[in-house]
Amino acid sequence: MDDKYSTRAGYVKPSETREILKVTERPEVISFAGGLPAPELFPVDAIRAAADAVLTEMGQASLQYSTTEGYTPLRTAICERMSAIGIQSKVEQVLVTSGSQQAIDLTGKLFINEGDTVICESPTYLAAINAFKVYDARFVEVAMDDDGMIMEELEKTLQAHPEAKFIYTIPDFQNPTGRTLKLDRRQRMVELANKYNVLIVEDNPYGAVRFAGESLPPVKHFDTEGRVIYLSTFSKIFAPGLRLGWVCASEEIIDKYVALKQSADLHTDSFAQMLTAKYMEQNDINAHVEKIKDVYKERCETMLSCIKEYFPASIKHSVPEGGLFIWVELPDTVDSSVLFVECLNNNVAFVPGAPFFPNGGVKNTLRLNYSNMPNERIVEGMKRIGEVLQRELND
Ligand code: PMP
Repeated sequence: MDDKYSTRAGYVKPSETREILKVTERPEVISFAGGLPAPELFPVDAIRAAADAVLTEMGQASLQYSTTEGYTPLRTAICERMSAIGIQSKVEQVLVTSGSQQAIDLTGKLFINEGDTVICESPTYLAAINAFKVYDARFVEVAMDDDGMIMEELEKTLQAHPEAKFIYTIPDFQNPTGRTLKLDRRQRMVELANKYNVLIVEDNPYGAVRFAGESLPPVKHFDTEGRVIYLSTFSKIFAPGLRLGWVCASEEIIDKYVALKQSADLHTDSFAQMLTAKYMEQNDINAHVEKIKDVYKERCETMLSCIKEYFPASIKHSVPEGGLFIWVELPDTVDSSVLFVECLNNNVAFVPGAPFFPNGGVKNTLRLNYSNMPNERIVEGMKRIGEVLQRELND
């Protein structure tokens, strides 16, 4: 069969994280590896009521083919949500996608020619790396500090790579680091994009899940020339299984996305779109998000206090103000994939950080997820990781 596959099919290997997740699915494993929301918070009863209303009121339409752009009442609700955080947009500037992951894939399809340069944070979201790799992207990583991508480094990168197509950034509670791009850097990023004539792809799935500190306007808020393409999702504030995300950009850019989406899947699930619009009509989704934030805040605080208590003092880590992840940096000499095997033997798991660096080379980091485990399991799991770390580091 080897001569039958496209060259493109060879550009990505099955995601290492997915392979890891398979092993960690055993019930005895305390897993901080995935990026799953807390399922006990899914508003199942309210969703049942909304589904019932959709089937009663629009049963046939909800099961029929529909337009590629998406269900207008849902797009209107998305515009209202964006307006509340500082993005003013017309309905025509919003395309509903099958999760924001599809928006990432379509972004690659729309902008990346073979060998094109994508500028990204170092590290960055693994499934975006893999999506862009399929289109044969080259990655230039820009260093971060606790306040996100460093703008002086970004400017140097833009000078060295004038051919770059876009900057891919996750400004709020980044996956994998949990770090947030500081306010003045958001504005600066747009100024630099204008100056060096590149686009910005702002991937912002976590912005609404802020449980500490002050809310910051998205990068798109500072867009002066229609250069920022904003991606977001219902996955972290509602239900990821419904696969509902969106792209917001200029109408010109959205028209291009629409043409590509049409050949990808015609349109996003009509029933899921109507259901979500109905849920928002019948319920206060912001009140629901508040509940999510309360739970994640507590779990994050538990995990942070466990780091203090059980991990060696030499270990550095992020202190997220929202989202799902804590990033841990170990001494340079430690390989987190070796630690991973040892931890798994003790029935506890995390994701080694190496795959989040598109050009490789960094082995001493790991990502911890706190959204998917109750507090007692977090404490027990962190104790076990701490024991392995104490052993490894004191050897
Ligand atoms: N972007 C980032 C940074 C993510 O962490 C995720 C989910 N893990 C996605 C996009 C995709 O989310 P979805 O397709 O569920 O909207």
